[in-house]
Amino acid sequence: MSTIFKKIINREIPADIVYEDDVCMAFKDVSPQAPVHVLVIPKKEIVSLANAEDDDKELLGHLLLTVKKLAAELGLDEGYRTIINTGEGGGQTVFHLHIHLMGGRSLTWPPG
Ligand code: 5GP
Repeated sequence: MSTIFKKIINREIPADIVYEDDVCMAFKDVSPQAPVHVLVIPKKEIVSLANAEDDDKELLGHLLLTVKKLAAELGLDEGYRTIINTGEGGGQTVFHLHIHLMGGRSLTWPPG
Protein backbone atom coordinates (compact mmCIF):
# COMPACT_ATOMS: atom_id res chain seq x y z
CA MET A 1 0.00 0.00 0.00
CA SER A 2 1.33 3.43 -0.93
CA THR A 3 2.35 5.96 1.69
CA ILE A 4 2.56 9.71 1.93
CA PHE A 5 6.09 9.47 0.47
CA LYS A 6 4.68 8.09 -2.77
CA LYS A 7 2.44 11.15 -2.93
CA ILE A 8 5.56 13.32 -2.53
CA ILE A 9 7.29 11.41 -5.35
CA ASN A 10 4.22 11.96 -7.53
CA ARG A 11 4.04 15.66 -6.58
CA GLU A 12 0.53 15.10 -5.21
CA ILE A 13 1.54 16.79 -1.96
CA PRO A 14 4.29 19.39 -1.53
CA ALA A 15 7.70 18.81 0.02
CA ASP A 16 10.93 20.76 0.20
CA ILE A 17 12.85 18.63 -2.29
CA VAL A 18 16.63 19.04 -2.13
CA TYR A 19 17.65 16.33 -4.61
CA GLU A 20 16.11 14.05 -7.20
CA ASP A 21 17.30 11.62 -9.85
CA ASP A 22 15.82 8.61 -11.67
CA VAL A 23 16.21 6.34 -8.66
CA CYS A 24 15.72 8.43 -5.55
CA MET A 25 14.55 11.66 -4.02
CA ALA A 26 15.60 13.67 -0.95
CA PHE A 27 13.45 16.19 0.88
CA LYS A 28 13.43 18.00 4.21
CA ASP A 29 11.72 16.23 7.09
CA VAL A 30 8.49 18.03 8.01
CA SER A 31 9.42 17.74 11.69
CA PRO A 32 13.19 18.31 11.77
CA GLN A 33 15.13 16.98 14.74
CA ALA A 34 18.34 18.78 13.77
CA PRO A 35 19.23 21.91 11.75
CA VAL A 36 19.70 19.60 8.76
CA HIS A 37 17.21 16.73 8.62
CA VAL A 38 16.65 15.25 5.20
CA LEU A 39 14.99 12.00 4.15
CA VAL A 40 16.48 10.08 1.24
CA ILE A 41 14.02 7.64 -0.30
CA PRO A 42 13.97 5.30 -3.29
CA LYS A 43 11.32 6.00 -5.90
CA LYS A 44 10.67 2.27 -5.88
CA GLU A 45 8.19 1.42 -3.15
CA ILE A 46 10.06 -0.75 -0.66
CA VAL A 47 8.25 -1.00 2.68
CA SER A 48 11.36 -1.13 4.86
CA LEU A 49 14.94 -2.34 4.87
CA ALA A 50 13.57 -5.71 5.98
CA ASN A 51 11.69 -5.91 2.67
CA ALA A 52 14.70 -5.11 0.47
CA GLU A 53 15.85 -7.93 -1.79
CA ASP A 54 19.12 -9.00 -3.37
CA ASP A 55 18.03 -7.27 -6.60
CA ASP A 56 17.96 -3.98 -4.67
CA LYS A 57 21.71 -4.08 -4.04
CA GLU A 58 22.52 -1.35 -6.55
CA LEU A 59 19.62 0.81 -5.39
CA LEU A 60 20.70 0.56 -1.73
CA GLY A 61 24.25 1.53 -2.63
CA HIS A 62 22.92 4.43 -4.66
CA LEU A 63 20.93 5.68 -1.66
CA LEU A 64 23.98 5.63 0.61
CA LEU A 65 26.20 7.38 -1.92
CA THR A 66 23.45 9.99 -2.40
CA VAL A 67 23.44 10.56 1.37
CA LYS A 68 27.22 11.05 1.27
CA LYS A 69 27.00 13.58 -1.56
CA LEU A 70 24.12 15.46 0.03
CA ALA A 71 25.92 15.65 3.38
CA ALA A 72 28.85 17.33 1.66
CA GLU A 73 26.59 19.68 -0.32
CA LEU A 74 24.68 20.61 2.84
CA GLY A 75 27.92 21.49 4.60
CA LEU A 76 27.91 18.75 7.23
CA ASP A 77 31.70 18.85 7.46
CA GLU A 78 31.74 18.08 11.20
CA GLY A 79 29.89 14.82 10.70
CA TYR A 80 26.33 13.62 10.53
CA ARG A 81 24.03 10.79 11.47
CA THR A 82 22.19 8.40 9.20
CA ILE A 83 19.28 6.38 10.54
CA ILE A 84 17.06 3.72 8.99
CA ASN A 85 14.18 2.91 11.31
CA THR A 86 12.86 -0.53 10.44
CA GLY A 87 9.45 -1.79 11.52
CA GLU A 88 7.26 -0.51 14.32
CA GLY A 89 9.68 -1.77 16.95
CA GLY A 90 12.45 0.17 15.23
CA GLY A 91 10.49 3.40 15.35
CA GLN A 92 9.39 3.38 11.70
CA THR A 93 6.21 5.39 11.13
CA VAL A 94 6.17 5.76 7.35
CA PHE A 95 6.36 2.39 5.63
CA HIS A 96 8.36 3.42 2.59
CA LEU A 97 12.09 2.82 3.06
CA HIS A 98 13.95 6.02 3.93
CA ILE A 99 17.29 7.12 5.30
CA HIS A 100 17.31 9.99 7.77
CA LEU A 101 20.29 12.32 7.25
CA MET A 102 20.74 14.55 10.28
CA GLY A 103 23.41 17.07 11.20
CA GLY A 104 24.25 20.65 11.99
CA ARG A 105 24.31 20.11 15.74
CA SER A 106 26.19 17.87 18.15
CA LEU A 107 24.46 14.49 18.22
CA THR A 108 24.62 12.29 21.29
CA TRP A 109 24.64 8.52 21.55
CA PRO A 110 22.77 6.33 22.31
CA PRO A 111 19.54 7.65 20.80
CA GLY A 112 16.25 7.06 22.58
P1 5GP B 1 10.28 7.17 10.52
O1 5GP B 1 9.72 7.40 11.90
O2 5GP B 1 9.33 6.32 9.69
O3 5GP B 1 11.69 6.66 10.50
O4 5GP B 1 10.38 8.58 9.86
C1 5GP B 1 9.34 9.18 9.15
C2 5GP B 1 9.70 10.64 9.04
O5 5GP B 1 8.86 11.19 8.05
C3 5GP B 1 9.47 11.43 10.32
O6 5GP B 1 10.68 12.02 10.74
C4 5GP B 1 8.40 12.45 9.94
O7 5GP B 1 8.62 13.70 10.52
C5 5GP B 1 8.54 12.50 8.43
N1 5GP B 1 7.30 12.80 7.72
C6 5GP B 1 6.09 12.23 7.92
N2 5GP B 1 5.18 12.73 7.07
C7 5GP B 1 5.85 13.64 6.31
C8 5GP B 1 5.43 14.50 5.25
O8 5GP B 1 4.27 14.52 4.82
N3 5GP B 1 6.39 15.30 4.70
C9 5GP B 1 7.69 15.28 5.13
N4 5GP B 1 8.54 16.10 4.50
N5 5GP B 1 8.10 14.49 6.13
C10 5GP B 1 7.20 13.67 6.71
